[in-house]
Amino acid sequence: MHGYVPPIADYRFLLGEVLGFASEMAEIGDETDLDLALAVLEEGGRFCADRLLPLNREGDEQGSKLIDGEVRTPMGFADAYRAFVDGGWATLAADPEHGGQGLPFILQLWFDEMISSTNLSFGLFPGLTRGAAEAIAAHASDELKSNWLPPLVSGEWTGAMALTESGAGTDLALIKAKAEPQVDGSFAVSGTKVFISSGDHDFGGNIVHLVLARLPDAPPGVKGISLFLVPKFLPDGDGGFTVRNAMSVGALEKKMGIHAQPTCVMNYDGATGWLVGKPHRGLAAMFTMMNAERLMVGMQGLGIAGAAYQRASAYAKERLQGRSADGAREPVAIIEHADVRKMLLGVRAFVEGGRALAGWTALQLGRAYRHPDAVERAKADSFVALLTPVVKAAFTDLGFEGAVQAQQVFGGHGYIREWGMEQFVRDARIAQIYEGTNGVQAMDLVSRKLAMADGAVVAGFFQLVAGDLAMAAPTLEGQRIAAATQDALALLEETTAALRGASVDAAGAAATDYLRLFALVSLGWMWTRMAAAASGDDAVHSAKRAVAAFFAERMLPQANALAAGIAAGEAAILLLPADAF
Ligand SMILES: Cc1cc2nc3c(=O)[nH]c(=O)nc-3n(C[C@H](O)[C@H](O)[C@H](O)COP(=O)(O)OP(=O)(O)OC[C@H]3O[C@@H](n4cnc5c(N)ncnc54)[C@H](O)[C@@H]3O)c2cc1C
Repeated sequence: MHGYVPPIADYRFLLGEVLGFASEMAEIGDETDLDLALAVLEEGGRFCADRLLPLNREGDEQGSKLIDGEVRTPMGFADAYRAFVDGGWATLAADPEHGGQGLPFILQLWFDEMISSTNLSFGLFPGLTRGAAEAIAAHASDELKSNWLPPLVSGEWTGAMALTESGAGTDLALIKAKAEPQVDGSFAVSGTKVFISSGDHDFGGNIVHLVLARLPDAPPGVKGISLFLVPKFLPDGDGGFTVRNAMSVGALEKKMGIHAQPTCVMNYDGATGWLVGKPHRGLAAMFTMMNAERLMVGMQGLGIAGAAYQRASAYAKERLQGRSADGAREPVAIIEHADVRKMLLGVRAFVEGGRALAGWTALQLGRAYRHPDAVERAKADSFVALLTPVVKAAFTDLGFEGAVQAQQVFGGHGYIREWGMEQFVRDARIAQIYEGTNGVQAMDLVSRKLAMADGAVVAGFFQLVAGDLAMAAPTLEGQRIAAATQDALALLEETTAALRGASVDAAGAAATDYLRLFALVSLGWMWTRMAAAASGDDAVHSAKRAVAAFFAERMLPQANALAAGIAAGEAAILLLPADAF
């Protein structure tokens, strides 16, 4: 099976029975009802399955190419992009003030999941465009907004994010690109950026790069970085954009996965750009883009794992190898073997729990923007800030691990190209690295997010989780998952208290384990809520209860090992001197 079935039944269950979609919409004054939400998801899923999936394998094999300085994307990508824009898929949740449809963000995030399941390389084009539009909307002058925002929001033009230089990756304080003020108020931007996704393409239209660079009077470090809007084509004075800017693609990166996606080395040779936001405040402006991207990147991990699960579970029901447990039948479908079932359940428990958690986070984002009560807006905003590194890092780590497990279900057939499983593994890997490595996300959680409002935000989140656990369903599985999550929450609370005021080394040594522990509790919370809603006898409800039991008994106990590792502290990590490595 090489197809993809959009998870509409799961979206229906989550919206209708778990996440309280209708009441959330009523609270924020949004008229989107369940039928409309599902219709959008169904139609979006059809687009992904019919238009994006068929290009995924070919795109991987052809790859993007650089020919005479111009990027050529694989066959079919440009047409699919046009169809995407014409179908209105670029504008789903965008602000109607700038030409968007203003639909709930949860639909966008779940649409991102389906895009990632079917064609991760493609998804980066609209994903980065959305991020660029959001940063411009939030920080640019009205003049820049009116000139550049509408075609970006509609998707007619695309966006790219140009932070990284060969000497400045995680540490953006080291950025060297320069911007010289010009007499007409514009800037001449010079420097070389590496790893720039969607830096160029052949879809037509303009490409708007948001570039971090330093002004001549910039103070050193991150407080001296400014953000510039640098387009591929400049206005020609006749209402068109036909004048080539002084920027070019130096090379395409040769890489492990997402071959269809053009990852560019970009040279800016005195390219004309305009300042977005205030001088030296570029990093703050860029964070608007990065935060939006981080949730999307989390969905890349989830989407790939979801698609890989679908293929692996179908394969496991057909592949005949070995004997039944009682020895009476052979060969049997490998789905009968406990170890194969365990691999598949691990992936599914993450995917369905993650889908629910992403949905909850997206509803909080809706509240943060649109709730009539300012206190509620602030509370929701802080929950989104807390959960963003968790969604980005845990979903991409678990997504990669899920892709590998699903590949394992195929045995050797997963390692050869035929079934597409090795592409999932290669494509999923990048999501752990870009948009801030997962290690950096974990440190953001431990160092900055736990300290928000002097610990009150994380305490509020734990309180919310504990409240839901107390209302768990009376079913056996409902009780099991609630009790196991409660145990893990107790460990997380203890660990959180112990990390308060931790030294840099102690926080760094704990961070990735802490983030995983946080994710396990958050997923356990979602499984408790799902199990509570799934009290019926139908297939969806029965399956939810069974997977909840698996999450409780086979995944949540990992919390103990994580907490023990964190409690051991940094000593053993610091023992070996650097030159002895
Ligand atoms: C395919 C691809 C697409 C990309 N797309 C874009 C894009 O569109 N735009 C863009 O600007 N960039 C893009 N990037 C760049 C990407 O975001 C960076 O690669 C990433 O942020 C890490 O930077 P680095 O590669 O320089 O690694 P480094 O910063 O050198 O990090 C190396 C290792 O050290 C760790 N580390 C670094 N600093 C610390 C610290 N202070 N504390 C603890 N650990 C630390 C990291 O976690 C990592 O494990 C892309 C990269 C790739 C490969």
